[in-house]
Amino acid sequence: MKALVLERVGELSLRDIDLPQEMGPDDVRIRLHTVGVCGSDVHYYTHGRIGDFVVNEPMVLGHEAAGTVIEVGANVTHLQPGDRVCMEPGIPDPKSRASRLGLYNVDPAVTFWATPPVHGVLVPETVHPASFTYKLPDNVSFAEGAMVEPFAVGMQAATRARITPGDTAVVTGCGTIGIMVALAALAGGCSRVLISDLSETKLKLAETYDGITGVNLREQNLVEAVNTATDGWGADIVFECSGAAAAVRDLFKVVRPGGTIVLVGLPPEPVPMDIAAACSRECRIETVFRYANVFDRALALIAAGKVDLKPLVSGTFSFEQSIAAFERAAEARPEDVKLQIIVDGEGN
Ligand SMILES: [Zn+2]
Repeated sequence: MKALVLERVGELSLRDIDLPQEMGPDDVRIRLHTVGVCGSDVHYYTHGRIGDFVVNEPMVLGHEAAGTVIEVGANVTHLQPGDRVCMEPGIPDPKSRASRLGLYNVDPAVTFWATPPVHGVLVPETVHPASFTYKLPDNVSFAEGAMVEPFAVGMQAATRARITPGDTAVVTGCGTIGIMVALAALAGGCSRVLISDLSETKLKLAETYDGITGVNLREQNLVEAVNTATDGWGADIVFECSGAAAAVRDLFKVVRPGGTIVLVGLPPEPVPMDIAAACSRECRIETVFRYANVFDRALALIAAGKVDLKPLVSGTFSFEQSIAAFERAAEARPEDVKLQIIVDGEGN
């Protein structure tokens, strides 16, 4: 089967590879249609590792995927061949202690597409558990279906924040995940979102959505901008999506007394935090790792028109152009939010 394979750091090839394709009774076989290029895929391409996950052997990339069911296992009742679907890329052990607690995203035994040594889905076909495969509503496109995975991180952040209707939120970092978090926060009841970044291009893109105001850190101090917007009270919720030490340092100057901090961005190294400032405001601090039980809710919001992810697709490539798609993603152009690859444009 032809796949986009990361051979080693900096070397991709589109070539045949043997992948297990056996179906179990609880599985579905899916013909892939659209697969998004994620920052993590690009990082494995450019650095060969993320934390403790190291690419030691050739690995197929891709985990943000939508496609069409072409075969269902004997026990599968909620899907049938021809259904358009998107897939949750992490497969936990359903019997694990974390799964039984509903925290399957932090199950140490989870296998996750395109995380070494697990192959991803930049391939024509894959087999996946039906219980982690979600039918796309008729008005949700394959492109939107493949955006559910990154949006799910925003959904998880909004859920962990426990938003009260009308809350003012701040999002630090206007990358793909920052925008996803901002959109989920608005859909979850926030009245407005201030989003900060150093890139005017990224902020302008985010500001095309109603309710989002950009704060350009080259021109404005975030603490001052939030104080001005909230009469000196602070934001109800601050979502940290940059992973930048400077943003983490100032979090507790931005949040209101009794407010909530949600840590989403992953700093590459440990960063200092002002615990005394956090204590004096009695902040609640939440953390986010991937997501659990949000894919169906994300699809419901998209289908209802409450969240529009379509403007965030910045470029679409054919399967044959996959390597070019990754080279473009590695350039990290500020105007690129999400690049996608059409694995199979026909027959779907
Ligand atoms: Zn991703």
